Amino acid sequence: MIDKVTRVIDSHCNESALKFIDMVQQERERQDKKWGEQTHSLTGWFAILGEEFGEFAKEVVELDCYRSPIASREDTIKELVEVAAVAQSIYEQYFVRDPNESKT
Ligand SMILES: [Mg+2]
Repeated sequence: MIDKVTRVIDSHCNESALKFIDMVQQERERQDKKWGEQTHSLTGWFAILGEEFGEFAKEVVELDCYRSPIASREDTIKELVEVAAVAQSIYEQYFVRDPNESKT
């Protein structure tokens, strides 16, 4: 399975896609170190994802609408990566590691 995924990634992903995947993986590792293995209800995950999405939205507004001098593309990308990392965590914990939870 992993070999197949690796072949698909190698043949279809451009450099920016691979960089994004790498950033998400690094963020996942950072979150695991910070929080340990997380187990939440789907509602709990929804709240966490919503919080991260809100942080991304704040950066977008400051960068793109207000053109705030403290806003940066790097901070906006960081928040976007955090959204993706939480989405990956939801998939891994709720739908793969604890599949019975997804039936409630
Ligand atoms: Mg965030």
